[in-house]
Amino acid sequence: MPKPKLAVYWAASCGGCDIAILDIEAKILDVADFFDLVLWPCAADFKYKDVEALPDKSITLTLFNGAIRSDENLHIARMLREKSVVMVAFGSCASDGCIPGLANLYSLDEIMDYSYKSAPSMESGTKTMPQPKTQVEEGELTIPTLWNTVRTLAQCVDVDYYIPGCPPQSDQIAAVIGAVIDILKNNKPLPPKGTVLGATEKSCCDECPRERNVKKIREFHRPYEIIPDPNICLLEQGIVCCGPATRGGCGAKCVTANMACRGCYGVPPGVRDQGAKMVSAIASVVDSTDPEEIEEIMKGIADPVGTFYRFTLADSFLRRTQK
Ligand code: SF4
Ligand code: SF4
Ligand code: SF4
Repeated sequence: MPKPKLAVYWAASCGGCDIAILDIEAKILDVADFFDLVLWPCAADFKYKDVEALPDKSITLTLFNGAIRSDENLHIARMLREKSVVMVAFGSCASDGCIPGLANLYSLDEIMDYSYKSAPSMESGTKTMPQPKTQVEEGELTIPTLWNTVRTLAQCVDVDYYIPGCPPQSDQIAAVIGAVIDILKNNKPLPPKGTVLGATEKSCCDECPRERNVKKIREFHRPYEIIPDPNICLLEQGIVCCGPATRGGCGAKCVTANMACRGCYGVPPGVRDQGAKMVSAIASVVDSTDPEEIEEIMKGIADPVGTFYRFTLADSFLRRTQK
């Protein structure tokens, strides 16, 4: 019997999701043993043309990390979709847009001008702007064309499953891969389409060991401004913690290390918009009914959009719909 084929791809990503897969340690040997790896640009030298030559639906599983923000990202996403039986949005960038999605707060022109003309690191540079096409003696050179709007994978192609996290936790990745191998080996049914894998059906707060006393707060603090009590809910101590608006699955990793949850596992079940849910959670702890006083208290939250929508802006109610 030929081995099932596996593809792992990165689009607009930082590479952290690929590292998280490698972090499953000895279990990576099971992956190599069970699957025939046909594409993993981060780990080995494969050629797109070899994947393009494969018959449609010949790749059993594609783990696709990274958001979609260039014509190249879209081309590979569409190609892998056609070639794959199961397409998984792997990690926060592919699922929700993640940090790359915050680029949607600006236009492409603003980003390019800042990056290549006015960023401090370019002070002594040539301010040369990248061009999608360049003619040289040997012919035309091309680089991918960046889009004005960052999109999630599911906004571009049909997605079967989601594995959340920035990056997904390696123990969860190992469990999902183990389950997939078991399903394929024993001909078991796949979970329903759209299932979120490697996570729980609850919120990060449900995994958090900190005590909640429904204490009201009158002031927000940046994490470096106070030394929080390690046993009490951070939100109730005035540190913005996105646990109430975040899906469980990481084991409240940051919170147990005395850092607030930033929301990387995306929305919990039943919640459509992470930022709106956080506004609701914040409203429940602010100790005032006076609009002016509330406004003053809220000024203590630096960068509300970047805090409440850090991982999900591209898939939120506030997502950009224009191209
Ligand atoms: S989800 Fe996080 S770790 Fe994965 S590619 Fe995106 S930014 Fe990197
Ligand atoms: S808000 Fe944060 S600190 Fe408080 S219970 Fe939820 S996850 Fe824990
Ligand atoms: S605590 Fe929050 S930010 Fe940290 S890993 Fe878990 S979901 Fe992500």
